[in-house]
Amino acid sequence: MLRNQKNQMVRRLQDNWSMKIVRAMQLEGKSPYFRAMQSANSPRVDIDGRPRMMLGSNNYLGLADHPLVMEGARKALERFGAGSTGSRLLNGTIDLHLELEAEIADWYGTEAAIVFTTGHQSNLGTVGTLAGRGDVIVADADAHASLHDAARFTDAQSIRFRHNDVDSLAEKLAAAAKRGRPAMVTVDGVYSMEGDLAPVDRIAEVCLEHNALLLVDEAHAVGVFGRNLTGVSELYGAADRTPLRTGTFSKSIATTGGFAVGSHDLIDVIRTNGRAFLFTASGVPAAVGGALAAVRLIRSAEGQERAERCLANARFLRDSLVSLGIPLAEPAIGPDGAEIVTPIVPVIVGESLRAFAKWHELYERGVFAALAHYPAVPLDHALLRLAVTAEHTFADLEEAAEAIHKVLEPDNERQLVA
Ligand code: PMP
Repeated sequence: MLRNQKNQMVRRLQDNWSMKIVRAMQLEGKSPYFRAMQSANSPRVDIDGRPRMMLGSNNYLGLADHPLVMEGARKALERFGAGSTGSRLLNGTIDLHLELEAEIADWYGTEAAIVFTTGHQSNLGTVGTLAGRGDVIVADADAHASLHDAARFTDAQSIRFRHNDVDSLAEKLAAAAKRGRPAMVTVDGVYSMEGDLAPVDRIAEVCLEHNALLLVDEAHAVGVFGRNLTGVSELYGAADRTPLRTGTFSKSIATTGGFAVGSHDLIDVIRTNGRAFLFTASGVPAAVGGALAAVRLIRSAEGQERAERCLANARFLRDSLVSLGIPLAEPAIGPDGAEIVTPIVPVIVGESLRAFAKWHELYERGVFAALAHYPAVPLDHALLRLAVTAEHTFADLEEAAEAIHKVLEPDNERQLVA
C-alpha cells in the first residue's frame, strides 16, 4: 500500500509535460540543465571539457572570482573554519554575520538588516513570518518562485495580481480592505527571466493608500540600480516607502546567502520568529566573508564603475542582437517612462522543443545561455536568457551575438525542419 502511494506521487511528477521534455533532451545529451563546470565563474567557463562564453550566470558585476572577494572568503575560512554546524540562534552566529548585517543596514540606510543562509530563505523568512491567518498576500503573478513559496508557507490567503499592473493590484487591495484583511504585497525589483522592472513608485503609493505592507525582492537589482546600487526601490525614489526589501548574495554579491532590511521592529520579529532563519544552519564563513568583501567593493568607486560597465555591456549586447534582427523581449521601462537596460537580455525563441534545440546549437558554438521554458515563463514563450557581466568585453558580446544570429537565422531553421 505504502509502496503504491509513493509510486503514484513519483509517476505524477514524471508525467509532468515539462519534465518529459527535459528527460527527452537529457537522453539526447541536449539538456541545458545540470551541466557541470570545471572552472571559476567568469566570462569564459570550462563546461564539458571546453571553454564556453558564460552568458547564463547572475554574476553581474563579475565579482565571483575577484581577488578581494576571494580573499574575504579565504580569510573567513581560515579564521572560522569550514562550517558553523548550527543555526544563527544557537552556535551559528560569527562576528562576520553581525559585521555584514551592520554593513548592509548602513548601505540601505535602514535601522536594521538580517542575514540568511540563502536568498530563497530571505523571502520565506520574511513573508512566511509576518503574514498569517486572516491576512492576504498579494503577489505579482511573475514574482520569483521563492515569494510564491513563501506565501504558501503561511496560513494567509495567497492571491496574485496581473504582472506589473498597478490597477489590478489596487483592485485586490481594495477587496482585501473591504473584508478588513491586513495585506502584504510582494514583487521583484527586476524580474529574473525577462529582466523588466516593477514600477515600485506607483506600487508603493497604492500600498500606502491601502495600508498594505510592501516587500520588494531586490535580488537582481542589488549592485546594479540606484545611486547607491541598492536596487529598484532606490532607482524609483521609493526606498523610504518600501518598508521591507530582501536580496540575495548569489548574484552581484557573488557568494551565497541572503538578507532583509527594514525597521528594528520588523527585523526583530523576523529574527525571533522566522522559521527559515531559526531552523537552518547559518551560511558558511567563506560565504559570509566573501559577501562582506563584495558589499564593501560594491560601495566603493570600483562598484560604481563595474555597474556602469555591466549596463554598457547589456546595452551593447541588446543593440548587437537588434541590429541582427533577433527578436528580444520588450525592454524594461524605468521611472521616467523611458526604456532602461538591465543586465538580463532575453531572446524569445517560442515553443519549448525549438528552444531546447536552439539552446544546444548555441552551446555547440561555445556560448552557454540559460534556457527558460514553461512554467518559468508562459507556454510557448520559451527564451534564451542571456545575462552579461561587467567582465565581458564588447568583442565577447559581438562574438556571442553572431553565434546567436547563426543559430536563429531562418536558413538554419529550414535545415533543422528538413
Ligand atoms: N529572488 C529572486 C528574484 C531570485 O531570482 C532568486 C534566485 N534565482 C532568489 C530570490 C533566491 O536567491 P538564492 O539563490 O540566494 O536562494
